[in-house]
Amino acid sequence: MSDSIFGKIISGEIPSEFLYEDEHCIAINDINPQAPVHVLVIPKRCIEKLSDAQDDDQALLGHLMLAAGKVARQLGVEEAFRLIVNNGAGAGQTVFHLHLHIIAGRQFAEGKMVG
Ligand code: 5GP
Repeated sequence: MSDSIFGKIISGEIPSEFLYEDEHCIAINDINPQAPVHVLVIPKRCIEKLSDAQDDDQALLGHLMLAAGKVARQLGVEEAFRLIVNNGAGAGQTVFHLHLHIIAGRQFAEGKMVG
């Protein structure tokens, strides 16, 4: 478990509503949503950032992607959502405990990398 805010949410030290939970990850609403649906899928085991992941983490990374799909279905946004990982401060990562952003419920600019 990490000492990050997400580690504290996972351990229950900071109370938070879990939209989804299984053995390996949780999903929570982002505290500062950038879209009508903005959910974070967070592994219980901390990897600080995606580029720190090792071959041993393959199953966990796959699990997070499957969980994101499940959460999207649960929220009814499975036909249109964006999955984002910010890797490193230079890319906007602010919490150093890997997480996937599920963003949905707004119009996305076609073919754009951001926005
Ligand atoms: P990053 O910028 O690291 O990719 O994403 C971190 C996200 O965590 C941000 O979108 C931010 O709003 C969210 N966040 C930061 N602190 C908290 C918190 O205490 N609770 C929740 N639910 N989200 C948080």
